Amino acid sequence: MSPRTLPPRRPQSERRHWIFIYRCGCPFGLVEESTSYKSEDDAWDAIYDTRAEERQARAVGVRVEFVDHATYERDFYPHMTERCTHGGMS
Ligand SMILES: [Zn+2]
Repeated sequence: MSPRTLPPRRPQSERRHWIFIYRCGCPFGLVEESTSYKSEDDAWDAIYDTRAEERQARAVGVRVEFVDHATYERDFYPHMTERCTHGGMS
């Protein structure tokens, strides 16, 4: 058996993320593109446990943006831990 190795670390410039955003614009979740998460559908599956939860989220206006890491850091990172006060979850 070969020793367990971590996947090679990607350069920041090649990292891409799906950002989950409430309808008010508050970001609340992130899925990084990887061998496990290759499409937006995979990203939805990573965030929500069931199709029903996913449908509910879409129904209340949750949307996704696919961005590079620099865009994430600039536009979303500062807001990721802010609590949404606009009722974005309902
Ligand atoms: Zn909000």
